[in-house]
Amino acid sequence: MNIHESEKAAGIFESLGYSETSDEKEADLILFNTCCIRDNAEQRALGNIGAVKKYKKINKNLIIAVMGCMTQQDGMGNTLREKYPYVDIVIGTNNLDKLEEFIISCRNNHKKKIVEIDPNDRPEIKENEKVYRTSGTNAWLNIMYGCNNFCTYCIVPYVRGRERSRSIENVLAEFKDLINQGYKEITLLGQNVNSYGNDLNDGTSFAKLLKEIDKIEGKFRVRFMTSHPKDLNDEVIDIIANSKNICKNIHLPIQSGSNKILKLMNRHYTREYYLSVIEKIKAKMPECGITTDLMVGFPYEEEEDFLDTLDIVNKVGYSSAFTFIYSIRKGTKAALMPQVPYKVSQDRIMRLIKAQNEKTKEISHLFEGRVFEVLVEDIVEKKPGYVCGRTDNGRLVTFLGSSDLIGSFVNVKIEKSQSASLYGTLIKE
Ligand code: SAH
Ligand code: SF4
Repeated sequence: MNIHESEKAAGIFESLGYSETSDEKEADLILFNTCCIRDNAEQRALGNIGAVKKYKKINKNLIIAVMGCMTQQDGMGNTLREKYPYVDIVIGTNNLDKLEEFIISCRNNHKKKIVEIDPNDRPEIKENEKVYRTSGTNAWLNIMYGCNNFCTYCIVPYVRGRERSRSIENVLAEFKDLINQGYKEITLLGQNVNSYGNDLNDGTSFAKLLKEIDKIEGKFRVRFMTSHPKDLNDEVIDIIANSKNICKNIHLPIQSGSNKILKLMNRHYTREYYLSVIEKIKAKMPECGITTDLMVGFPYEEEEDFLDTLDIVNKVGYSSAFTFIYSIRKGTKAALMPQVPYKVSQDRIMRLIKAQNEKTKEISHLFEGRVFEVLVEDIVEKKPGYVCGRTDNGRLVTFLGSSDLIGSFVNVKIEKSQSASLYGTLIKE
């Protein structure tokens, strides 16, 4: 989501005549796209903003800007204004459309400081945004913005507002345009894609969108994230199972395997319900790659709750998982709950990562000796002569091949696996 938002900002820069540089010292414009989902993301952003102050001395015309969800938190606009006075532009998550105007205004008057953070939690969706795409054969596509779920640990609903869906016509038009431009894989983005269309009250739904997308001619792949387990219904599972282009790859964050913790998190499902959804997915799509997000150290988490999470990891068999230590976010309900000592959380996350790594290794072994269709994505910088790409179910495969294969679908025999990495040989047609 954030990568795509940065691509939109870069689209504005490109239209203003800027081009990319990998050397900060050379830059005339530095924009930080921030995230505040966990405290360490926020601290890193503030540290990085602090580190570019020195470039203002080298280049008096340098413009420094900050955007993204960190800016949208209560009081952050003022903090940035007071503690980082050399920052020229601070914009909230709803103000991206003003970035062009603000940059022009700063270029004309270098003393000007602009802080604009719109508190509206249902801002209008902006269409026809300029995008400078950076992800090779893959393109990101927002189908909706915001979130209505208010999981008790999460800051997203406070900084991104309520769910707003783009119209199905606009989503399909952008989708077709991307295919015509030659993108081979499109990832549909939303905090909970399964509730796409609910706010439109015109019968639009995620299932309907997927059905329409599957009617589009051509050879391409569709992925989506994220699915909230409470809303991933049978209809959507059936559409994925029967579609030609929608990848059999589902990111289904469970967060915790304990019913007590899930309730405290306000997730609206139980471990039994979650496992029943996994069963349905596996019954219809035995090859489906399932990934998840897991959190340890949520308030009130005891050893037995954590063991329930480990049990889920062993039962489901995720191809991979993002694992997090719970981080207090001011303004959320969980911030007021009794906290788990950090040492306990650290111990749990190590055990969790170990358990998931063992599972990943086990699953990777099952790929050996088999042939998979791979969409070639990139060269491997560290291994000259090699390229990499993904299987339909989301696994990264490295093999000997030339860069002209990028963007094409090829068959690869998996020879070897090493934890999450698969190594194969290209099968010549
Ligand atoms: N909308 C997505 C998730 C967006 S945030 C969903 O509901 O699945 C991505 C992940 O960050 C979450 O799934 C959660 O595991 C993690 N996360 C969110 N808030 C967090 C917090 N306060 N501390 C630690 N991890 C958090
Ligand atoms: Fe955060 Fe929950 Fe919304 Fe995901 S569904 S963005 S975790 S509040």
